Amino acid sequence: MKLHGVVWLRLGIVSSERFEVAGGEALGNKNGRCVVCGNSPTVKSHLFPRAMMLDMRTDDRPLLEASRHRTGYVERQNGIWDDRFLCKTHEDAAGGGDDYAVRLSRRMIEKSWRHPDGDAFQIDNPQPELLQRFVYGTVWRHFAAPISAPSKLRLGPYQDRIERALFNDGLFDLPIVAAITNVTGHAGRLVPMALAPYRTKLKDAWVWHFVVGYFDVMLKTDARPWPPEWRPYLADRDPLTLFQADRVDLATVPFLRELTDRVRASPYRGKQKG
Ligand SMILES: [Zn+2]
Repeated sequence: MKLHGVVWLRLGIVSSERFEVAGGEALGNKNGRCVVCGNSPTVKSHLFPRAMMLDMRTDDRPLLEASRHRTGYVERQNGIWDDRFLCKTHEDAAGGGDDYAVRLSRRMIEKSWRHPDGDAFQIDNPQPELLQRFVYGTVWRHFAAPISAPSKLRLGPYQDRIERALFNDGLFDLPIVAAITNVTGHAGRLVPMALAPYRTKLKDAWVWHFVVGYFDVMLKTDARPWPPEWRPYLADRDPLTLFQADRVDLATVPFLRELTDRVRASPYRGKQKG
């Protein structure tokens, strides 16, 4: 099988049986309870902004989701969602930075094609708190959604801080570094992808790392300071300076290669409605 242009890579374990979740977006899921306030019904929540996932598609072929924890791949129209854990009010709060991030991401796409050899790009970031809300909300939704349960994500002592910022007017004061993805594929072009948040170490500090579209983000959940040379790239600045590391071919990155090989080699596994 030929690899489609767009691959959505996901490290978490997700069983295919869970994809056919009940409930329509308009009516909500009357059986769901909001994990923030306990109210029903709950509404559809996209773990990555739906528009960013749609922007990765260049034609009508679906996104392909692979995981290193299972064989096969899953087709999705606009990314993973769950309608069992957030009421409308708290979905709006968790996703309150999404539209802003979508606009930023679209400007990044234009810039990245205009300056293929640069190592940093500047873009206006007039409301950095909305970018911070998007980053917190993305990590938190992946953590809190029941569909992510098998991945066993834990925010530890930072859970309360992140939830206070998202839902109770707390501060968005965890350092965030935003970059442009540096992974290339066919003909040396940047490959848009989504990599679900996972915890990793960067220069001795724990961070949550995720990728969506051309956007590569690190949220630091560690008391140790960033290396000073990272300071110019902090997401609370306007304009925002987006770092781009030296480009690497997807085929040479072991864990990405493993995932794309699985997609190429494996049979179709399932799809999520909507
Ligand atoms: Zn609620």
